[in-house]
Order: sequence, then structure tokens, then C-alpha cells
Amino acid sequence: MNFEDVRSVCTTVFYMVASVMFIRGIKLLGKADTARKGNLMSSAGMLIAVITVMFEKKVSVTLTSDLMHNAYLWTAAAIIIGSIIGAVWAKKVKMTGMPELVALFNGFGGLSSLMVAITQYMTDKKVNLFSSIALGLTIAIGAVAFSGSIVAWGKLSGKLFKKNNYFPGKNIFNGILAIVGFAGIVMYALQIAGIVSYQIGQIGIIVTSATYLILGLTMTAAIGGGDMPVIISLLNAFSGLAAAFAGLAISNSVLVVSGCLVGTSGLILTLIMCKAMNRTLHSLLFTNSGKASKKGGNAEQKEPKSMSVEDAYLILEAANSVVFIPGYGMAVAQAQHAVKELSDKLEENGAEVSFAIHPVAGRMPGHMNVLLAEANVPYEQLKTADEMNPQMSNTDVAIVIGANDVVNPSAINDESSPLYGMPIINAFEARTVFVLKRGKGAGFSGVENPLFTNDNTIMLYGDAKQTVTSLVSEFSDN
Ligand code: NDP
Repeated sequence: MNFEDVRSVCTTVFYMVASVMFIRGIKLLGKADTARKGNLMSSAGMLIAVITVMFEKKVSVTLTSDLMHNAYLWTAAAIIIGSIIGAVWAKKVKMTGMPELVALFNGFGGLSSLMVAITQYMTDKKVNLFSSIALGLTIAIGAVAFSGSIVAWGKLSGKLFKKNNYFPGKNIFNGILAIVGFAGIVMYALQIAGIVSYQIGQIGIIVTSATYLILGLTMTAAIGGGDMPVIISLLNAFSGLAAAFAGLAISNSVLVVSGCLVGTSGLILTLIMCKAMNRTLHSLLFTNSGKASKKGGNAEQKEPKSMSVEDAYLILEAANSVVFIPGYGMAVAQAQHAVKELSDKLEENGAEVSFAIHPVAGRMPGHMNVLLAEANVPYEQLKTADEMNPQMSNTDVAIVIGANDVVNPSAINDESSPLYGMPIINAFEARTVFVLKRGKGAGFSGVENPLFTNDNTIMLYGDAKQTVTSLVSEFSDN
């Protein structure tokens, strides 16, 4: 066995180890108590994969004295700088900012695949027809994942594309972009097949990059804010798919495996979220999900009623059944521990207490479950919308804590609402509904909520944590 054989066997073994670690990592991510381990395992797998790629590709055989041309040095520097930025960023980000970070990570994934493909195009002159098509598809999907994720980040953080950017003829415009971009891939493939000149192939690559970057932008900008979680998941699938095609273009099996894992898991999550929000991918991508009126029912004609904490205590004190409906505002206020205290007080008082959790409450899937688990709310008390809604009309008090879109009845009874069709927690059916929020502001989707002006709804204005803490004090003092 010569050195090359040893290198080849070692490469295959280490690629397999890395692939198994990715698969095992994803499996561990499926449960809250093993998720950290899963994350670590996948990251370690990625480090093994990167080191093996350097070993396989012989990026620099010896440590030359010319440091500027030492690829090991550049790669090590990139890993160290990237790891420091990633670690500091992830440490600093608040729980409520996590989806924005995920959106950016997806975008960087797409951008990396795009850059790998363009570098391959510029450096490898012996591309075959299959690789050229894979390379063109990497550019196309990577570009959509990148620009789409930047728009998603802008919408989530409220920094860019705040309004619904739908324009008439959007589908035709996007269709033309997709066709023109695809024509660019064909031009490049024809160049590789020796049918057209190098310049035509070069124009093809530029056209594909530009059109698909614009497509990611126009496609995502027109999608309503309330549907962003599904789109982030879809863009995650795109970034995985782009990586898988990049793996095919540069003949790297571990990139194909990891790309396929991200692509398929992202697609499965997208379909689960579509189901949870009663959306179809087609309706999200091709209809105007944010076009309809931002008004809900007759909300503008009535003023919401409000009440003092002391009076609210009297109603709660008499309640036999109470359902908490947490939302994004609970995360902002970090009210979960106070909510747990209130739930204990209510139970001591003889009330039956449940928590109704909407799949997209908060700013990431499972957001509320994580916060309530942190406050030691028993798992058995957490109910899904399907479990809770049939019991809602027999509930004495529903306490909506910083939730808005996920309890908006327009989703059921206003066909013109952008939220129409999305399943909600039917808080409006409870005998009394307390809504804890700071003011009259709309939720993430920007849609007004007619629940607030219902006859059985009482607003408890103020920061959710302060209000809940005051209610706990009322129970303690009486
Ligand atoms: P919303 O964003 O609809 O509403 C949150 C409400 O919380 C606001 O109306 C706000 O009102 C109130 N609030 C904010 N801070 C406080 C505070 N300190 N104390 C009390 N209230 C506060 O939240 P929902 O959870 O109902 O819905 C989630 C939305 O986010 C959905 O539209 C969903 O599609 C979207 N989304 C979900 C993701 C996910 O994966 N879960 C990811 C991205 C988006 P006020 O300002 O008046 O206090």
C-alpha cells in the first residue's frame, strides 16, 4: 500500500465517520434534553469533514515559506475567525432574536455554496457536463437561499421590508427570472459541451447569479410576516440543497450527505409547519399572503375594555378552570417564572390549570415549550391547539400572555384577513379572556385583533411580568 492508497482509505473512513455524526446529531436534536449533545456532535463531524477535505485535496503539501500562498494557513484562519464570530454572536443573541440568527445562518450557507461554485468555475477548467449542471444549480439555489434569507432576516428584525411588498404580476415576473436564470445554466453547460464560446458560458454564469439573487428577494419580500417561520424553514432546505449540489459539482461526498440531510430535514419541517398553519407551499409562494386588509372585523369601531389587577384577581379567585396562552410578549417580558408562580397559586386555590401552546407562538418553533420547561411547568399541562380548543368554551378564564396573532379570530371568520385559514387557539370562546400586553400594538403580522374588543375580553395593560407578579401578590395577600 503506497501513501496515496492510505490517503484514499483514510479519507473514506473519516467521511463516513463525519456522515454518521451528522445523522446521529440530527437524531439527538429531536429531543430537548439531548439537543446540546446533538449540536456538539454535528459540529465535531463538520470539523472532521473540513480537516479531511484539506487532507484529501492536498490543499498545500508542505508548509511553504510563502505564507500568502499557504492554503492550510488561510483555512485555519477562516475556521478560527468564523468560530469566534459565531460563538460570540450566538452567546449574545437573545432567545427572541434566535430566528433572525437562524435566517442569517441559512443565508450564509447559501452564500458559501454560491462562492464554492463560482470559485470552482473560475479555477477548474476540466469540468464535465454533469458537474457543470450541478454547478449552475448550486449558483441558482445558493443565490435564492442567500438573498431570500437576508430579506427574511430584515422582516423578522423589523429592519428591512417591513411592509408587504407584493406587486401585481409578481408570479409572471418571478417566472421570467427563473427561466432567464435557467437559460444561463444552459449557456454554461453548452460551453462545457464545446458548442458555444467561453464568453457565452461566462455571461451565462453572471446571468444565473444575478437573476436568482433577485428572485430570492422578490419571492420572500412579497410574503406576509406571519408566514415567515415557514419561509425560513424552506430557505433552510434550499441552503441544504445548494450544498448538496455543490458537493456534486466538486465531487465531495460528505458535502452531498450533509447537504441532503439539511435539505430533507428543512423540507420536512416546512411541510409540518405548513400543516400547522393550514397553509400550502403553493399558497405561500404564489398567492399574496399579505395583500388583504390589515383590519380585523369591527375592531376599529370599538374600544377595548380594561381592568385593574385587583379586580382581575377577584375573577381569577372565583375561576375553576384557567388556560394560559403564552406568546411572543411572554418571551420579551421573561414572564415564564412569574406565570408558573401564578399557575401554582391558582392550583392551590382549586382551579384546573392548562397551557395552550400554538406551534408558531413566539419567534421560533418550540419557543414557548422551551421557556415553560425552563420555569418547570409540568409537561402534562402543555396542550396543543387541537387538544385545548374543544375545551375552551368550558373554560372560565383564558389568560393571553403577550400573544396576539395566535389568538386572532380573524383567522377563522374574516376571509379578507392575511391570517385567514391559520389555526388559532380559540381564546375568544372562554367565558372571560384576560389579555396581558403593554398597549394596543398589533402582533407580528401587523393585523388588528378583534378579540381585544369582544364583550368577554378584558385588557390588563402593562409589561406581562409586572402584571403577572402583581396578580401573584394579590393571591399571596388575600
Ligand atoms: P405576536 O408577535 O403576534 O404578538 C406579541 C404581542 O406581545 C404583541 O402584540 C405585543 O403587544 C405583546 N408584547 C410585547 N412585549 C410585551 C411585554 N413585555 N409584555 C406584554 N406584552 C408584550 O405573538 P404571537 O406569539 O401571538 O405570534 C407569533 C407571531 O410570530 C406569528 O405571527 C408567527 O407567524 C410569527 N413568527 C413565529 C415564528 C415561530 O417559529 N414561532 C418565527 C417567526 C415569526 P404590545 O406591543 O402592545 O405589548
